[in-house]
Amino acid sequence: MQLLLKTEYLKFINLLSYPVLIVDDNYVSQLANKKFMSLHKIRTKTETQLEDLIIDESMVEKEKYILEIKNKKMIFKLLSSKLLFKSKQFYLISFFDVSKEHEEHEEILFKKRMFEKLSEHLPEGIMVCEDKINYSNPTFEKFSGYSSKELLTKKFVDLLEDYSKELFNANIKKLLLQKKSYIEQELQLLSKKKKTIWIRIKTSLILDADKIYFLNVITDISKEKLKYEELSNIAYFDALTGIYNRRKFNELFLNEYKRAKRYKRDLCGVFFDIDHFKKVNDVYGHDIGDIILQELSTLVQKYVRETDFFARWGGEEFVILLPETNKENALILAEHIRKSIVEKIFTKVGKVTASFGITQLNGQEQQKSFLKRLDNALYKAKQEGRNRSICL
Ligand code: GH3
Ligand code: MG
Ligand code: MG
Repeated sequence: MQLLLKTEYLKFINLLSYPVLIVDDNYVSQLANKKFMSLHKIRTKTETQLEDLIIDESMVEKEKYILEIKNKKMIFKLLSSKLLFKSKQFYLISFFDVSKEHEEHEEILFKKRMFEKLSEHLPEGIMVCEDKINYSNPTFEKFSGYSSKELLTKKFVDLLEDYSKELFNANIKKLLLQKKSYIEQELQLLSKKKKTIWIRIKTSLILDADKIYFLNVITDISKEKLKYEELSNIAYFDALTGIYNRRKFNELFLNEYKRAKRYKRDLCGVFFDIDHFKKVNDVYGHDIGDIILQELSTLVQKYVRETDFFARWGGEEFVILLPETNKENALILAEHIRKSIVEKIFTKVGKVTASFGITQLNGQEQQKSFLKRLDNALYKAKQEGRNRSICL
């Protein structure tokens, strides 16, 4: 049989560029081509079973077989075709070396696993989007409160607060037009539970198969923002009364001054000082003095519109900045406040009065001259007997 096989097939199988083995129906090797012989130690053996060649069954399910070739493990894909020779069944087994492909495939799988682990454990959120979101890591899912499946149906911009939406769109345009490598912005994200989360987002472009994707690295900065706000509160609010302090007033005044000048809008100031406050402290003590300052601030706040700014200038002196208000209306407001102070019964002290100076910003004057006139108006109110309003 072997001899017959040889003459019939050897010529043919030797022409093939890959190893070939012919086995009988018991998978006992009968004939091997040169390629096979050059590969395998089998040539020293006779009657080898195909199974004997396979040294590891682990890949059999994937229709791949690990064979030992010259003391080296190689992976082959085996293709078997039936041969009928003189009414006896044989199999022609072709061996295709897939070691390299397998190695590459394993490398891709390894990289994929590493990427998954990395993106899972990163403290930053990772999100890739084209038009809609294409990929998000568990951290971003946690921030947003949405599952990865839900995120895939959304555009990132839909997750943002209105103001952040505009900012994000404008910055993305810049990224595309100015060919920057990345942009970084602070935005407000609205979670599934409608909670506002401050995020810092770094967006860069990635090109893949002729498509542009946006790669976003996202950090939750809510805590940072809260700390900043706390510090701002300490920096801008008066600890005793809770209203703006002088530092904040100066900042607000500068803005309003510029705006009023540029757009020729009315701007007024009301400056007031409690009358004979030293006496209050002397008679009732400093602590009661503090309570009077708090009660007075609370009372005045009721008269101040949302667009006005009420601040403690220092000591028992207060200032109100009134944008879009002329001096006639500022005087009316000052008088309302003055009279309400007169009418109020303050803790322990009972009656308290204050004197008011009012002025309006005019023409091209400097901030200093406006503040000086305001101070002069208050001084005049004191001079003329206190508990009155003077407009200069
Ligand atoms: P005038 O009518 O001229 O304004 O008299 P006055 O006594 O109010 O005079 P002045 O403005 O010189 O005095 C302000 C006093 O306010 C002095 C200070 O003891 C008191 N004062 C300033 N800041 C505080 C504070 O935070 N708490 C208390 N209790 N008193 C303060
Ligand atoms: Mg004073
Ligand atoms: Mg005073």
